[in-house]
Amino acid sequence: MALDDAGPGVTDESDTDRTCRYCLGGEEGGFIDPCACSGGQRWVHLECLRRWQRSILVTQPTHPDLFAEDRRMTHCTVCLQRFSCPLPSRHEMMLQFTGEELASLVRCQSLICSSRQWSETLQQSLQSSRRSMSNFVHWCRSAYLIIYCGPKQLALSIPDEANREAVLENLDGLGQLEVQGKRYRMLREGPLARLSAADASNASVLHGTLEQLTLPAEVILQCAEECDASDDSIRAINLCNPISEDDLSSEAQRVVRSRGTGTPLRHFLGGPCAPAQPTILLPAAAAAGCGLRTLEQLGVALATDFAPLALEDPPSKRRRLEAGDAAEAEGQALVFWGEARWQRTQLLGELARGDWGLCAAVPEDLVGGKQIWHQLLAEGRPVYAPHSEMTRQAPAA
Ligand SMILES: [Zn+2]
Ligand SMILES: [Zn+2]
Repeated sequence: MALDDAGPGVTDESDTDRTCRYCLGGEEGGFIDPCACSGGQRWVHLECLRRWQRSILVTQPTHPDLFAEDRRMTHCTVCLQRFSCPLPSRHEMMLQFTGEELASLVRCQSLICSSRQWSETLQQSLQSSRRSMSNFVHWCRSAYLIIYCGPKQLALSIPDEANREAVLENLDGLGQLEVQGKRYRMLREGPLARLSAADASNASVLHGTLEQLTLPAEVILQCAEECDASDDSIRAINLCNPISEDDLSSEAQRVVRSRGTGTPLRHFLGGPCAPAQPTILLPAAAAAGCGLRTLEQLGVALATDFAPLALEDPPSKRRRLEAGDAAEAEGQALVFWGEARWQRTQLLGELARGDWGLCAAVPEDLVGGKQIWHQLLAEGRPVYAPHSEMTRQAPAA
């Protein structure tokens, strides 16, 4: 069919013959003519067009770097004209799969819990194809605690002097950097964890600190402008993979041992990203006065270096710990090496596939260990996406 004999004004059928090109149904619920097609191809239900667009979406990878918009979602495959009704955003389409209840649990202090079926799929692919252990270790039977959910963050790696120079040159008067047309500020994390809030937004202090940084280094940037929620970053640490101090890299062992005695530590594999970067959960009482962010619902504070634990606890604080509740009386700090990172729409896509469920975390979950995942499932706590065309198929037996 040629474009020029299919203009929008052309009708060659009587109104009584109208059928939807997708479901062949009648006009109940209303028709639209979204492209230049005429005749039996002209009319569609909006919901049928959306279903067709979703059927293409489900064949695509959920990772934002691998995702490219498929022309079949935006253009008619017959007349090749762009559909006149705009395509909902990828974020809106994913929300239709997950439902609002599940989407609302994508927030700080929720647990992202791998589903039984996906864990089995991972196990099978490990056994059949001898894929590397790395994915399996991090995703199979895991429960990730969300420690950040908010405006987009980027990991800025500074591998060498040339990159340091480039960063310093581009730092503006507020100590911010422009990346892909948006302004980002540097977070007081990792190598910048010891800066005060005032110093972190002081360009000359930042400049001096960055000049002294031991390279290679990784600095976390956070978008300082209004951002679309679909771009939000989610960072989480896995509670299910305890390791011993001997399992740590020699550099990590050196860092851990140099802090001296004090609060006892338990170590975990936190996730696949930034494996040398510790995230430390310590009893909120032990962190009082350190200016750390607390996860209030869980009674812990969050540190990204060992400074708050470097000195032996003063006696007064230790007495308070002994008198405190069970978690605090233990006085342990949990150290997670590495973390997992998602973009909000990407996580919604993985939730829609049924790979993960979500639930709110409680303080008892912070005992950590392999049994956490089993307990969560036995208690039926995680909420999963309803079954849809997006749902991952069960592995072949
Ligand atoms: Zn229809
Ligand atoms: Zn068309």
